[in-house]
Amino acid sequence: MSKFKGKKVLIVGCGTSGVASAKFLVKQGARVMITDSKQRTELADSLKELGDLKVEFEFGGHTEKSFFGAEMILVSPGVNILNHQLLQQAKLKGIPVTSEIELAVGELEQPLIGITGTNGKSTVTTLVGEMFKSDQKGAFVGGNLGTPLIEYITAGQSGQVAVCELSSYQLELTERMVPAVAIFTNIDQDHLDRYGTMDAYIAAKKRLLKVCDRNSWVVLNYDDAVLKTFADDNQGKVVWFTLKNPMDIGGEFAEKFFGAYYDASKNSVITKVTAQEEVYPLEQFKLFGDHNKQNLMASICAARIMGVSQQAIQNCITSFKGLSHRLEYIRKKDGVYFFNDSKATNIQSVQASLQAFKRSPIILIAGGKDKNMDFVPLAPIVKQKVKLLILVGEAKEKLNRALGDYAETYLVGTFEEAVLMSFQKSRNGDVILLSPGCSSQDMFRDFEERGDYFKKLVNQL
Ligand code: ADP
Repeated sequence: MSKFKGKKVLIVGCGTSGVASAKFLVKQGARVMITDSKQRTELADSLKELGDLKVEFEFGGHTEKSFFGAEMILVSPGVNILNHQLLQQAKLKGIPVTSEIELAVGELEQPLIGITGTNGKSTVTTLVGEMFKSDQKGAFVGGNLGTPLIEYITAGQSGQVAVCELSSYQLELTERMVPAVAIFTNIDQDHLDRYGTMDAYIAAKKRLLKVCDRNSWVVLNYDDAVLKTFADDNQGKVVWFTLKNPMDIGGEFAEKFFGAYYDASKNSVITKVTAQEEVYPLEQFKLFGDHNKQNLMASICAARIMGVSQQAIQNCITSFKGLSHRLEYIRKKDGVYFFNDSKATNIQSVQASLQAFKRSPIILIAGGKDKNMDFVPLAPIVKQKVKLLILVGEAKEKLNRALGDYAETYLVGTFEEAVLMSFQKSRNGDVILLSPGCSSQDMFRDFEERGDYFKKLVNQL
């Protein structure tokens, strides 16, 4: 009999993961209530998805009765546990508080490859999944990206491995997950509107390291100052990836090197994770920028360690086209190249994108909803790469104060104006790049809507 049979479970948040968790729990015989601070009318999509599933609802706010009467509370990633009074009180009363991911890993029967970091999670998750598939190995690919892990469990978990993107929000309540492989892409400032400090944000990411055991492979970015220190505080087996040649770093690191590095002279990734050194040429790799070489190296390490063949990995290097809204090429018009990087919602991702263009002068469109970010670290790269800065959205004044001295800058009222002005002021050979450095919710539903709208405007020029 299922351990959830007859159990009173309260799900906080009626979004994608809340809905997927409700479906699983009801199937297990639990008595489920979903509570959400939003009104019923705002949750039409979720309600449609739930259909006539047997759940109770509490909309437009939460009550003590529903929280304190539950035997288990499942919190959605969007809910900030730290400043949620009812949740804190319920915890003090001894009611277990958990998450969709924790629920799912408790049931998962295959090895888990967990991917976290400030940027590159979705790209790496997709790449690793593609590598398994290109080796005819079934893999679930999802988590924070696409399908929630619990949906895979409900559907009967038919793959050989679960490749799961994990956001810091999803990791906050992680305790019993033991990843076969944990990948950390990088760490830089983000989500400070929720965490307040970098230390709190890093601590959330570090949950994935804390749950690794001696058998876990921990894939770390040697080029990242924070992640370098993760190796000292870790029980698992460390696998490094780096853009530098370990021989140039020298010492014990070079002697004992285990992982992947980029060899610029051969334009290849070299791995040392199997009995023999392997070489993966990148002539056919379509993704721009050094950051995507890092993403690729992290993915190769994970896939190879988990038994994907060298040939399948090489095939994937050739075939992978990248994801939409991540430094995505749109078109060339009158000698001007347009790129959509709407998913760049923090400083590091904007830096990585600007860095990817080696020669072209860049017209950068930035702005959106501020996540309590410090934009000043962008100043040097803006000075070096950006010929024109067009600022839009809620954060435009703050961006202007931080960066306006480093490039010719215009503040505009609408997104349409931003696109039009960027084109009017462009010259042959310029790149026009939307890389906002901010989230989209001041003007759009999400980064996808923003990117799609940008593409539409660009294609109408
Ligand atoms: P995430 O899922 O972590 O948000 P994505 O793969 O969706 O990561 O990429 C988000 C943004 O970050 C995009 O603008 C992309 O160009 C940029 N990016 C991707 N990988 C990296 C990386 N390794 N370092 C810095 N920026 C990156």
